[in-house]
Amino acid sequence: MNFTKNSANLTPIEDTVFAVVSKAKEAKAKFGADQVVDATIGSLYDEAGNLVAFKSVFDNYDKIKKEVKAAYASSFTGNPTFRQRVAEWTIGAADVKLAHSVIATPGGTGAVSMTFSDILEPGETVILPDIAWGSYALMATDKQLKAKKYKMFDGDKFNLTSFKETVLSVINDQNRICVVINDPCHNPTGYTMTRGEWDEVIAFMNECSKQVPCVILNDIAYIDYAYDLENSRKYMEAFNNISEQVMVVVAFSCSKTMTSYGLRCGAAILLAQSAESVRQAEIVFEKSARAIWSNIPNAAMDNFYQVTTEHYDDFMNEKAVYIDYLKQRSEIFKTEAEACSLPCYPYKEGFFVTIQIEDNDRRDRYHELLLANNIFTVKVNHGIRVAVCSLSIDKCKGLAARMKQYLDET
Ligand code: PLP
Repeated sequence: MNFTKNSANLTPIEDTVFAVVSKAKEAKAKFGADQVVDATIGSLYDEAGNLVAFKSVFDNYDKIKKEVKAAYASSFTGNPTFRQRVAEWTIGAADVKLAHSVIATPGGTGAVSMTFSDILEPGETVILPDIAWGSYALMATDKQLKAKKYKMFDGDKFNLTSFKETVLSVINDQNRICVVINDPCHNPTGYTMTRGEWDEVIAFMNECSKQVPCVILNDIAYIDYAYDLENSRKYMEAFNNISEQVMVVVAFSCSKTMTSYGLRCGAAILLAQSAESVRQAEIVFEKSARAIWSNIPNAAMDNFYQVTTEHYDDFMNEKAVYIDYLKQRSEIFKTEAEACSLPCYPYKEGFFVTIQIEDNDRRDRYHELLLANNIFTVKVNHGIRVAVCSLSIDKCKGLAARMKQYLDET
């Protein structure tokens, strides 16, 4: 007897990451950690193979009173200090002149998922990149949405042609358009769009918005690991040019920024030309928040506020150490990959480098061969993800050449 609704999809989640993670663990126990390359985990790890939990973040968290941890948040949209600080943190560094509001969410996941269901009607189509974080597709199905995918790349550039074609292919059948752009530090390729590419996206969405209202969901989960951190928000100034019929929802994740994945805190930042449009969206998003998760952990929001104000320097200095590790690890992998002609997507910054394999059958065979040789990675559409965020500098050395050798055998 099936007690779930008729439209429910009964196929279990195929969690490609966790399955390989446990295989890597087994291999380490059997052969010793030295013999295994575990490039599966998408969280930040230090050079000794431990999960990073920033001292500046968790020392402060530990000092928060138990009554504060126990209490409900003061509003369904989030604590006022948190909302204001998130706005300053994400868009404040750029000269963004739009009306805005912030809704606290359980991680970036909450922001993305809420945007899908509050913007589109069931049966409509959300537009996603073809190489992407797997949860987008799952969320689309969960909200009874269809998903159409644009090709991320044209050579080493953002594929504007495919992006436009994909939007145009659905525009006549929808009340609204919702496109997902995971930028900067795209998961899983590490691509970051140029300002010119953003300008073209905005100009195109403005054109489309003459037909239907358009929402750009800009998932910035990894932004705080951008290599040019100071200018990492600059591209958001392109948002100033959106038409009255375009809204941008920026999905922010404290999980990555603060290495606090388990505290389930993030935000949806709503941006539009008119305060009235923002207010309307805010009302709808607030009701969804109330209906689905009620409110966000009080102490997680207070912690974000305190760490990014009172402990700003300590936090930024600590994070900078790991941005530098990411730079070193990715640089070694990329340079060696270029030297041995291992094809990678155009990595600029971020947690992952992805090897380009157009044919997914070949990718599957390659992934198996890597597993058999104690190299643990994650399959993504048209590629193999190498998580440099959790791979030490030593483990990065020589890896590209080994991976190229196995690719040639596939
Ligand atoms: N967006 C991307 C691209 C991600 O990779 C992730 C997490 O892996 C998230 C958003 C959301 O993470 P969280 O819900 O923990 O903030």
